[in-house]
Amino acid sequence: AKPIVAVVGRPNVGKSTFFNRIAGKRISIVEDQPGVTRDRIYTEAEWLNIPFTMIDTGGIEPDTKDIILSQMRKQAEIAIETADVIVFMVDGKEGLTAADQDVANMLRKTKKPVLLVANKVDTKDLPDTFYDFYQLGLGEPMAISSANGLGLGDLLDEIVARF
Ligand code: GDP
Ligand code: MG
Repeated sequence: AKPIVAVVGRPNVGKSTFFNRIAGKRISIVEDQPGVTRDRIYTEAEWLNIPFTMIDTGGIEPDTKDIILSQMRKQAEIAIETADVIVFMVDGKEGLTAADQDVANMLRKTKKPVLLVANKVDTKDLPDTFYDFYQLGLGEPMAISSANGLGLGDLLDEIVARF
C-alpha cells in the first residue's frame, strides 16, 4: 500500500494551503476563519516518482467543548493512527502557542516519524520567535511557505526519506 502522510496542527496554520499546493489543485478549503476544514480530505501525490497519499486532517483543537472542534480533533487522532509520516504544522508568523503545545503532547506519544514544520515563513530570514518551536520537543523545525513554495522541496525530501 502507498505510504500515508497526515498533516496535523491547530486551525489556521495553513494545512489546507499546503495540502492544495502538494496536490497541485484546490481540493481543500482555505479560509481566514479557523476550523473550516471539517473532514479528512485525501489526495494522491508524488515526489521524486514516489507516490503517496496525503490527508488534510482539518486541525486539532485540544480541550474544547465545541462539537465541531472536538470532531476535528477526533479526525486528527484517526489520521495519526493511519499515517506513516506526520507533518505537524505550526504558524511561523504567529510563533508558538499553547494549542501547539497541546498538539505536540499528543504527537510525542506516537512512535511514528513527526516532522515539525513552521509555515508562513515567506522569506529566507527566520523570525526571532522561530527558535521557540524547539520547546515542542519534536526536533528541529523546518521553515516553509505554503503560499510561495519556499522550503517545500526540502520538506518533501524529508517526508519521502521516512517511508
Ligand atoms: P488551515 O486551517 O490550517 O487549513 O489553514 P488554511 O490553509 O485555511 O490557511 C489559513 C490562512 O493562512 C489563510 O488566510 C491562508 O491564505 C494563510 N496562509 C497559508 N499558508 C501561508 C503562507 O505560507 N504564508 C502566509 N503569509 N499565509 C499563509
Ligand atoms: Mg484547513
